[in-house]
Amino acid sequence: MGTQKMQQQRTVQQRPRKQKNSTVKKLLWVILALQVICAIEFLILIRVLVSWKESVMTVNAGINQEMTGKLPGEADILGVEQDASGGSQSKDNVYNDVKVDESEDWRLVLVNKWNKMEEGYVPELKELADGHMIDARIADALMEMIRGAKKAGHTIYILSAYRSMEKQISLYEAEVAEWLDAGYSEVKAEEKAGTVVAVPGTSEHQLGLAVDLVSSKHVKLDEDAEKTEGYKWLVNNCHKYGFILRYPNGATDITGIIYEPWHFRYVGEDAAEAIMEAGITLEEYLER
Ligand code: ZN
Repeated sequence: MGTQKMQQQRTVQQRPRKQKNSTVKKLLWVILALQVICAIEFLILIRVLVSWKESVMTVNAGINQEMTGKLPGEADILGVEQDASGGSQSKDNVYNDVKVDESEDWRLVLVNKWNKMEEGYVPELKELADGHMIDARIADALMEMIRGAKKAGHTIYILSAYRSMEKQISLYEAEVAEWLDAGYSEVKAEEKAGTVVAVPGTSEHQLGLAVDLVSSKHVKLDEDAEKTEGYKWLVNNCHKYGFILRYPNGATDITGIIYEPWHFRYVGEDAAEAIMEAGITLEEYLER
């Protein structure tokens, strides 16, 4: 009798301990689950930070190299093509060698990430009043366009014109170095750099037929350039002088370059009118 009572008492006493144990276990599981969630959130945060840093670096690199802190007009301000399409497709490495002098029409020479200009090509250059160099054959058309804008009330600055191979190489190498500093492998750094600065030999500025133009109201190479009246005038009138907006919005797949509301390319008046009227790219025009 006595032992039975004692056993009953023991079971009665043990009950709350069991409940306590299971509560502790539950608590531990909850803590574990919370830790897993925290770890996942941490990983997501790191990913977001890394991609944010990359995009900031890309934008900064473009702006830093375009704008070296000098006043527009008098400056040796560097233009940089921003190439948004990544740069690791297999066709990136397959270049057509473009013989500029042997092309049918020099005004329509196509240089882009898939069509590299022949090595050693240097156009006959003319120095403009602000010190920029340009293919001598388009200097008058360019100055006439800038004067036309002025008459309409818009001051236009040239931020970049002809660029030598050496200049393009140094721009590109400086860009690669920045990505290396940021901890990227050599291959990755080159790939990243190529999305910001055109690989030497593939920049239209090396042809001497392209200029980066901005309104005095917005002396920056970013998409807000399109909001100025000066830009609107250029887009509506450039074809009259033989120029086109070379990298329009939404055409990155075709041009290999992001939207650049500042980059204008000389193609001659007929082609310029056809291209601007149809709202197409030089690539599409040449395919027709
Ligand atoms: Zn440009």
